[in-house]
Amino acid sequence: MGTKTGTKIDQILEAAKQHCDDVIKPNVDDWNAAGKWPRAASAMAAAQGLLGLYAPEEWGGQGLPLGEGIRVYEELGKGDGAYAFALSMHNICTYATCGFGTEAFKEKWARDLTSGRKLANFALTEPQSGSDAMNMYTRAKINGDGTWTINGAKAWVSLAGEADVYLTVVKTSDTPGHGDMAMIAIPKDAEGVSFGPMYDTASYEFLPLAEMYFKDVVVSEDNIILPIGQGLQGSLMAIDIARVSIASGCCGLIESALDIALAYSSRRKMFGGKNLDLEGIQWMLGDVATDLEVSRLLYRKAANALGTPDGPLMAAHAKRFVPDAAMRAANTCTQVLGGSGLLKEYGLDRLSRLSQMLRIVDGTTEISRVVIGRALQKRAAQLPELRIPKGYGED
Ligand SMILES: Cc1cc2nc3c(=O)[nH]c(=O)nc-3n(C[C@H](O)[C@H](O)[C@H](O)COP(=O)(O)OP(=O)(O)OC[C@H]3O[C@@H](n4cnc5c(N)ncnc54)[C@H](O)[C@@H]3O)c2cc1C
Repeated sequence: MGTKTGTKIDQILEAAKQHCDDVIKPNVDDWNAAGKWPRAASAMAAAQGLLGLYAPEEWGGQGLPLGEGIRVYEELGKGDGAYAFALSMHNICTYATCGFGTEAFKEKWARDLTSGRKLANFALTEPQSGSDAMNMYTRAKINGDGTWTINGAKAWVSLAGEADVYLTVVKTSDTPGHGDMAMIAIPKDAEGVSFGPMYDTASYEFLPLAEMYFKDVVVSEDNIILPIGQGLQGSLMAIDIARVSIASGCCGLIESALDIALAYSSRRKMFGGKNLDLEGIQWMLGDVATDLEVSRLLYRKAANALGTPDGPLMAAHAKRFVPDAAMRAANTCTQVLGGSGLLKEYGLDRLSRLSQMLRIVDGTTEISRVVIGRALQKRAAQLPELRIPKGYGED
């Protein structure tokens, strides 16, 4: 017997599956060829309830807990990891809008975001500060009338020019550190906002990515999402949700790669039998299947930990392990098809390149290792003393 939310998540997962089968899979190659965000598709996703996953029902959202809603990306990721990623960022921004935005901002934007009439994204990265986020520069000056004037540049902004509003992390002084950081929503059409040329990337050409520039952009204080002092901390919470969402999408990608390989290998004739009769091939695909099971357990555990003290570490474990598993899966499955694995028709090359992208975005694999390493140091400091040989430590 499902609970009330259990019933809702089942319906939403079914809607995500349908969206993947009917909208993403048949069209993703055309989207890539056109090199343009499929706005009609994201509008259909919205109509199916996929663009307000965690937003309260009063604002038109589904009101799902993070631990449940994040499973949607596993379904969408079976169709395309970059599309799943972009929708996950929109959902996180919509969640932040409803949870932290001012009443005036919510009145103006929340229903448009949950209904997909408007799209949102997040802008933290700058040309000089990717992993080293503390080195960001974009400045907000607070004016006498309460408005903020913003100057600076962001880099690698997804949905660049396509999203209608960008939750942007800014510094409010020259003081080093994050004590002066805040997050403010900047509409695309605000005077002084512009975008650089689109980055030329392979395999997710439909996802517009570019630098975003702010020249004396004046924004109302109604648009403050996170006040001064909470900008970095709030962004890191958003990034934790994004990391687990990416791991969820990667599980979809692994399952797709595995199914392509199985469908081919079970039909490919060789040595008087089928490719899948070879024990070596079964072992290769068996490892992919094990990685899929482990990845699923890991991201779902991490999703349930979000918002608890274990959230950041669990998100790092998921982001460290699952995109790597996805890349291994895409490469192994390509190998299983032999030369055919390289044919565009099977899409495995696209999955390899997508999984590499997912190893980078929202904190690289190495940054996850940094988070895990710091947690291990803390744990070590709490362990009882262990005798180590004389001369090996402090005597
Ligand atoms: C497709 C895509 C979409 C994106 N969308 C957005 C977006 O919408 N909004 C946004 O704000 N950002 C976005 N990003 C930016 C993304 O979050 C950054 O690319 C990422 O954080 C890495 O920063 P960087 O590219 O500057 O790499 P760098 O920080 O320059 O890192 C270079 C290399 O150094 C490694 N490294 C860094 N620190 C350490 C360390 N301590 N130890 C060992 N190795 C280390 C990294 O892992 C990496 O391998 C997007 C990126 C991509 C690829």
